Amino acid sequence: MSIRIIPQDQQESSARTTTEMIPPLLFPSLKNLYLRRAARLRQLADKNPLGDYLRFAAVIAEAQEIVLYDHPLYMDLHARLVATAAIEIPPLDIHTLPRALHWQRVLHSLIAELKPEMSGQALVVLENLEKTSVPELETMASALFNNAFSQVSSDKAPFIWAALSIYWAQMAALIPGKARAEYGEQRQFCPVCGSVPVAGVVHMGGDPHLLRYLHCNLCESEWYVAQDKCSNCEQTHDLHYWSLDSGQGLVKAESCGDCDTYLKMLYQEKDPAVEPVADDLASLVLDARMEQEGFARSSLNPYLFPGE
Ligand SMILES: [Zn+2]
Ligand SMILES: [Zn+2]
Repeated sequence: MSIRIIPQDQQESSARTTTEMIPPLLFPSLKNLYLRRAARLRQLADKNPLGDYLRFAAVIAEAQEIVLYDHPLYMDLHARLVATAAIEIPPLDIHTLPRALHWQRVLHSLIAELKPEMSGQALVVLENLEKTSVPELETMASALFNNAFSQVSSDKAPFIWAALSIYWAQMAALIPGKARAEYGEQRQFCPVCGSVPVAGVVHMGGDPHLLRYLHCNLCESEWYVAQDKCSNCEQTHDLHYWSLDSGQGLVKAESCGDCDTYLKMLYQEKDPAVEPVADDLASLVLDARMEQEGFARSSLNPYLFPGE
């Protein structure tokens, strides 16, 4: 079982660990989340070979900020928290949570914000999405959640995900105060929603071995995973660290020889402005190198989907 989320009014379990001083979960703080991301994307776009794509992602993030405030979410998660804790699944499990139409309203609002900003193929994609029926959009959302990326074109996926992510982040931000988290094993998936990380972040301050969190690519929560342990298969003995930024050490890929995957780690002490989604997207050159070395990516960036 992964990190467990227990409703606040249920008894504390005795299964405590020595690491209980470290918060196992950091729920998302939505204030300025997308504006910070957009600013970081624009900053990193200068001098980046993928600068145009980073600026494109920044435009989406800026639209997400506007749409977030235009579509506040009010819901009572108590029954869901109790039910999911009983069967030990994440409270906002992407595979079982019934989706309200809220996310589709968010998507249409995003499209309306983005259309004046986009041209060419991106505009055609937005116009196509605008005409897509409610059931077809649900089918695409389910396909993305089931890793069936070939069923959703890679130019539509980032817009659909941007809307789903707002919805999930809004729900996740409603949990603090209503539930608490307990430690468990198996941390490759987000304990809040079951999606995968975008990257790991080593937070500033104190012992870096105690401050590594993985950032969810959907609900924007962060969960603690000890350093020096593969975040995908939990093995410890064949980990290697790769970097392309000539000793600066802001972004490193942690590869595991047991499961042949890698995950990028971002070091906040090297630059406090580091932002998981933006810095991951800006370092795709490192991904290309890791794939050359025979490692598969265990994470997914919300602005970049494999597609067909
Ligand atoms: Zn999540
Ligand atoms: Zn591994």
